[in-house]
Amino acid sequence: MSYIFPQHLFPSEKVLIALGSSIGDAEAIFESAEKFLDENGLEIIKKSKNHKFPPYGGVAKNEFTNAVWEIEIQGLKEFSYDKARKFLNLLQKCEDHHGRTREKQWGDRTLDIDILTFGNLECNTTQLTIPHAEIQKRDFVLIPLREIL
Ligand code: ADP
Ligand code: MG
Repeated sequence: MSYIFPQHLFPSEKVLIALGSSIGDAEAIFESAEKFLDENGLEIIKKSKNHKFPPYGGVAKNEFTNAVWEIEIQGLKEFSYDKARKFLNLLQKCEDHHGRTREKQWGDRTLDIDILTFGNLECNTTQLTIPHAEIQKRDFVLIPLREIL
């Protein structure tokens, strides 16, 4: 496991995602994202409240709404890297469907979805780091994460 991830929070059987939005109606975007994911074979089994946080990282200017959700992936038998890549592709499609643009890293965005954990998978490639490398630096992840664990 990545040393940077708070070990006592590592939930080895869970799939956890972090959502963030700072452009548009975040509540409506999150509801629509839930519908999108549900229609694509994912079940949201636990949701934190939607929390408000100031912009992070010096580029974004708007207030953020953040949440953490626990997901069940229908028919998934093993937490492999290949399955995690497919999961990321689907989450990125969901971001795109909600008007996500990628011109500026850290910038304001309609919808960001990051994978925090993918069962017991650990990986660190240019495409995908799981458990997510920045979790323990970010209150906007840790606060909703603690709420649902
Ligand atoms: P950020 O989430 O850091 O603001 P982006 O959403 O634009 O930035 O993601 C940039 C890249 O981060 C993605 O293209 C993806 O390949 C990579 N990435 C690495 N690890 C993860 C992860 N655990 N969850 C989501 N994306 C990840
Ligand atoms: Mg992201």
